[in-house]
Amino acid sequence: MINFNKPYLTGKETQYIEDAVASGKISGNGKYTQLCQQFFEQKYGFGKCLLTTSCTDALEMAAILINIEPGDEVIIPSYTFVSTSNAFVLRGAKIIFADSSEENPNIDTTKLEALITPRTKAIVPVHYAGMACDMDTIMELANRYNLFVIEDAAQAVDSFYTGKNGIKKALGTIGHLAAFSFHETKNIISGEGGMLAINDMQFANRAEIIWEKGTNRSAFFRGEVNKYSWVDIGSSFLPSEVIAAFLWAQIKQLNKIQERRKAIWEQYYERLNNTNSNFKLPQIPNYATNNAHMFYLVFESLEKRNEYVFRLKKNGIQAVFHYLSLHRSEYYLKYNKALELRWSDYYSERLLRLPLYFELTNTDVIKICNEIINE
Ligand SMILES: *Cc1c(COP(=O)(O)O)cnc(C)c1O
Repeated sequence: MINFNKPYLTGKETQYIEDAVASGKISGNGKYTQLCQQFFEQKYGFGKCLLTTSCTDALEMAAILINIEPGDEVIIPSYTFVSTSNAFVLRGAKIIFADSSEENPNIDTTKLEALITPRTKAIVPVHYAGMACDMDTIMELANRYNLFVIEDAAQAVDSFYTGKNGIKKALGTIGHLAAFSFHETKNIISGEGGMLAINDMQFANRAEIIWEKGTNRSAFFRGEVNKYSWVDIGSSFLPSEVIAAFLWAQIKQLNKIQERRKAIWEQYYERLNNTNSNFKLPQIPNYATNNAHMFYLVFESLEKRNEYVFRLKKNGIQAVFHYLSLHRSEYYLKYNKALELRWSDYYSERLLRLPLYFELTNTDVIKICNEIINE
């Protein structure tokens, strides 16, 4: 059986966890948390990073930071994971669902301006499969209408966007805030885990307070205040050192992990390109890089996709699809009337993800491709 995903362990995770345990400090914001945060800040140029227990938590922090209040509107793609939307709903936001583009599942920026109203407070683009959204257009609209941009970069670690000015920037450094995931299905992992990246530094101090249950404990530990207390709303968003130590082991192998994932992705692309008219392969826009988070096929119909899912399964290969468009979810339809978002539904019905993980062998990839090619 070839599973869809297999979490990769570098072999150093338990060593760093033992070190964290032996240090006697296993709650949050210790040595390993600092190491991870500094790594991301320095390598990619985020203003400030805070590890969280999930990307979901990082999105919830972002919603608190931009002061989402009941009635505020937040524009997000319908073709995404629940948390992208739920984080803002928790604070009373009204979600305005945007459609995907025809070319790929990312938000269609040509239709974005029409969704902006005087109540709009933020846009939350999702870099699907780690491929950049059209960020120049999104940031230009945000500046013009005075909106916040929160990148859902859950899948986008180590991926980049080149703007019209020719400057190449890491995904998650462009919006005011960004959220990453280290869930076991992502490129680098800590079981559950995530990170808030802060680029607009007006949010830096408050983010730390929200992260630490609404207290100024971080400032206290730095010696900036002589006692800490309840100063704002917040929650327990920071992970323990055990999780950070695990993540540190993964970070140390990031280049190796990325190299292997990209090699698998390329192999899929080369073997499947121009073989079969039942599906299309992912196209990477010129302004985006590929971080090999995901390899997907887009079939001509739901029936065709189901046929392939079944055929692969019969041959011991687990291929999966995802994202019931959020505008068609039970929760959304309880409070809102039905929407038509053609391309979101299109990907919902036709997209299929192939196995992609560090330990997938070349032989596995060949077997999978052969099953797909042989009609
Ligand atoms: C994985 C994922 C999330 C959620 O990440 P968690 O760390 O599991 O909370 C959110 N958005 C997108 C687009 C994702 O792929």
